[in-house]
Amino acid sequence: MIIRLIKKHFILTVFSASFTWTADAQYFQQEVNYKITVTLNDIEHSLSAFETFEYINHSPDTLFEIYIHLWANAYKNKNTALSRQWYENGNTESWFAADKDRGYIDGLHFKVDNSDVKFLYDSAQIDIGRIILNEPLYPGRHITVSTPFYVKLPSARLSRMGHLGQFYAITQWYPKPAVYDEHGWHPMPYLDMGEFYSEFGTYDVSITLPKNYIVGATGELQDEEEVRFLNERVSQTESIVDFGKSMEFPTSDPEDKTIRYVQSNVHDFAWFADKRFHVLKGSVEMPVSKRKVITWAFFTNDEAGLWKNSISYINKALLNYSTWIGEYEYNNCSAVDGTISAGVGMEYPCITVIGESRFDFVLEEVIVHEVGHNWFYGMLASNERDYAWLDEGINTFYEMRHMSEAAVNKGRVKSAIGETGWAGRLTGLADIDSRDLSFLAYLYVARRNSDQPINTPAPEFTETNYGAVLYAKTGLGFEYLRAYLGTGLFDSCMQEYFRMYKFKHPYPADLKKVFTETSGKNLDWFFNDFINTDAKPDYSIRSLQRIYGNSLINPASKGYALKIKNKGSLNGPFSASAIQNGRVLSTQWYEGFKRIDTMFISCEQCDHIKIDVHESIPDINRKNNSFRTRGILKGVEKISFPFLIRTENPERTQVTWTPIAGWNNYNKLMAGLALHNISFIRKRFEYVVAPMYSLGTERFAGMATLKYSAFPGTGIFRRVTVTGQLSRFAYNVSEAKPLIRPKYSRLEGELNFLIKNSKHKSPWVSAVSFRNINIMEQMTGYGPEPEFEPLITGETGRYHNIISLTMKNRRAIDPFSGGVEIEQGKNYVKPSLELVYRYSYKRKNRGIDFRFFTQGFFLNIGSVNSVHMTGTGKGFGGSEDYLYDNSYFGRSDYTGFWSRQFYHQAGDFKIYSPIGRNDLWISTVNIKAHLPGRLPVKAYLDIGLYDKSRRSYMDYKGLTYDAGICLYLVQDIMEVYFPLVHSTDIRRYLETNDLRFRDKIRFVFNINALSPFRLRDGILTF
Ligand SMILES: [Zn+2]
Repeated sequence: MIIRLIKKHFILTVFSASFTWTADAQYFQQEVNYKITVTLNDIEHSLSAFETFEYINHSPDTLFEIYIHLWANAYKNKNTALSRQWYENGNTESWFAADKDRGYIDGLHFKVDNSDVKFLYDSAQIDIGRIILNEPLYPGRHITVSTPFYVKLPSARLSRMGHLGQFYAITQWYPKPAVYDEHGWHPMPYLDMGEFYSEFGTYDVSITLPKNYIVGATGELQDEEEVRFLNERVSQTESIVDFGKSMEFPTSDPEDKTIRYVQSNVHDFAWFADKRFHVLKGSVEMPVSKRKVITWAFFTNDEAGLWKNSISYINKALLNYSTWIGEYEYNNCSAVDGTISAGVGMEYPCITVIGESRFDFVLEEVIVHEVGHNWFYGMLASNERDYAWLDEGINTFYEMRHMSEAAVNKGRVKSAIGETGWAGRLTGLADIDSRDLSFLAYLYVARRNSDQPINTPAPEFTETNYGAVLYAKTGLGFEYLRAYLGTGLFDSCMQEYFRMYKFKHPYPADLKKVFTETSGKNLDWFFNDFINTDAKPDYSIRSLQRIYGNSLINPASKGYALKIKNKGSLNGPFSASAIQNGRVLSTQWYEGFKRIDTMFISCEQCDHIKIDVHESIPDINRKNNSFRTRGILKGVEKISFPFLIRTENPERTQVTWTPIAGWNNYNKLMAGLALHNISFIRKRFEYVVAPMYSLGTERFAGMATLKYSAFPGTGIFRRVTVTGQLSRFAYNVSEAKPLIRPKYSRLEGELNFLIKNSKHKSPWVSAVSFRNINIMEQMTGYGPEPEFEPLITGETGRYHNIISLTMKNRRAIDPFSGGVEIEQGKNYVKPSLELVYRYSYKRKNRGIDFRFFTQGFFLNIGSVNSVHMTGTGKGFGGSEDYLYDNSYFGRSDYTGFWSRQFYHQAGDFKIYSPIGRNDLWISTVNIKAHLPGRLPVKAYLDIGLYDKSRRSYMDYKGLTYDAGICLYLVQDIMEVYFPLVHSTDIRRYLETNDLRFRDKIRFVFNINALSPFRLRDGILTF
């Protein structure tokens, strides 16, 4: 874009002497008036059309070319910007789309004022082109551009345009000039996120299609007969008592009809057609002009039970937005039930399409949001690609306001979530409304410091931040601004913005100017800091001091001096309230500050003081907002003991409890209690303490983890985590009578540095980690030399230090990773290298995995440490998992079922044998390939090389291998391996030890993956 801008300015400077840079700052707006005739072919799912548009140059510039969007080409192949976005976001379904599901536009032949012109496709984007004008288009002049075009419709599952059977979503479908504004041309490829920036004008569109199609479209229907047809359909729909199951598509009428829609003051035209549509119609009177707006709903049987109330949702949304912002300027407003893959709903002028809703409050919320876009997108047509918060963000604020004030109460959300089962009730999620949900989304990214500024161009947002920041944080931010300004003043500001920029292209500076001038306040904290940075609000009360009529601060009243610390990075205003018996006595707003300041709050009698009592500030730590005026530990909330896992409650210090049980072959059954403070949202300090009583040892066993995370704002690390973990379990059982069950204690400290990526959206995750592991083992004589007397001989201790660097590219298609590790312990230094690559099939999570692993010693003076081909616990003290990194059901078992559990580590041979174990080096290649189809089956092959100089194996060929089949329930977590082929050295070992096929089958059951930290963090990772 920047390159094009420079080029354009260069050309203009050369050709137009009058051009100056100041012209950039002067507002103007181009106008495009369309006339399109289009015919739908519902057998081959295509459109044949002819388009004419008048382009009026209202700019002060002479134009030599017109940029044209051909967005249907976004679906053409894997090289389009849309495809690349699918790839980046891991949308493999669309990325791997079959040719029949793809789409394109062609058959173009552009003429300007009836003369042929040169049309050039953009060299990089096939959904952008340029008309080279034969003659310059001077300021104030207009041209008429015409072209035929043909569109092959893609599957509507890919994005927003296309068909599903004979349901048609005809959006972003015709050749359309890019916006030319005071910043120059804005040619942009079609993307799923942040799609719109278009010129206003008039649309006159005639659609030809089989007679029995029902059509919903932008604008006003011009045909009497079609109006009658729709009205009949409305009466039919109103008479239906039971809509019944999904309908088949009726046969198309052999006769066609042509219907015409006209609409002015819009910047796009979309239409939807289906032969199954039920239709409902209503109307709503505008609050000031009393003008009547006709509302329409088009839906199928699929969710008819919800859609029968949809007219009232549309009407309420139109009325609220009209009251709060300014009147809806069009005469029709429609909502269409359609299954589009990208998002739950999508806005077009005067018409919106809604995805699957399942619940009435979801349908209402989505309809409100999409209808609301008629203001923020429709009438206020800002540049969504660059400043998506101006429509998505502000619209989310109004959607939340609508849902909390006008329509849906918490009870309705609660009952709906309650219906889905016990999970919502147990976790506390059933108690939250849509604003709370937005807050949780923002908190999730803010606590991890992975949030991006609101004012980030749409394509640069991560998918998580697109929702959690662009929608949620902006919505919450405008709620914050409304609380600060007061609803009356806030509404005046927005109404003024609407009045000034209706049917225009406002930029962020315009919004800031209107708000600042109308409110008379300095709003830099909001428009500069809250919007443009990732600064986070967090005020806390440090102390209170009773003041009796302090003449300096406030001579008239009694109250408290509040010492408040700004622990956050945003210096925004905040409110404090005096509270007595849960009743808010007074609330006062204070301007923001840095560090510590003292405020006065008046209160004769109050039992506590609270910052942000109505929770209108997206404060990332609400736990420090409250302070009692009496008692000890005034800043600490009452303690509560919720069960299992809870959403955070700022009013309580929560210690969550969960009964737990465990089992291994030495401790036998263990039962106990896990106490933790883990919730859905990460905290800086988190802990799990899980003591259990073991029936096998008749002693306590269990583990405890403490974790502290810091998020340095600057520097090369995104997160630094310090973890301490203590565990104690039995690890062996001797054959002596009585049974002796020796135990180990393991203490691990880890310092982990997550490296910051230069781009948020990067698929890379890189980390450096230092681990120190201390292990105490109770010794028995039972071990490698079984002639020893089984006897507890006391504890022996050892330590290991490990430094590792891992780098992962987590792209959805062909991901890869690499890691180097150096392990040091008494008398040895052991480095290793691991490289992993997946060749992806045309389906998510399936492909061929390649792994290369090599490990050896830099130094090994008489240590018993060795390198291993297999990742097992098998043997004394789990001899190959001597770090006790993994959990085994039978870590020391040599034989029997539990001895067959293994982890993917070391050489990762799937069959157990001591072959390859040595104290010099090994190298292996492991290959796993999903078999075709959807079966959970993989074929595997392991190939290993090892140094045999210190140990000799019979049949040593320099190369050892095994291969077989793997069945899995959850990949890398629950798998069973069936060996089929192995090299002679392994076979010799198996024969010598008389092992049968059954004995060779081994399994992975990755208990580590079930830790509460991993489970929580695994829900959303980025
Ligand atoms: Zn939206």
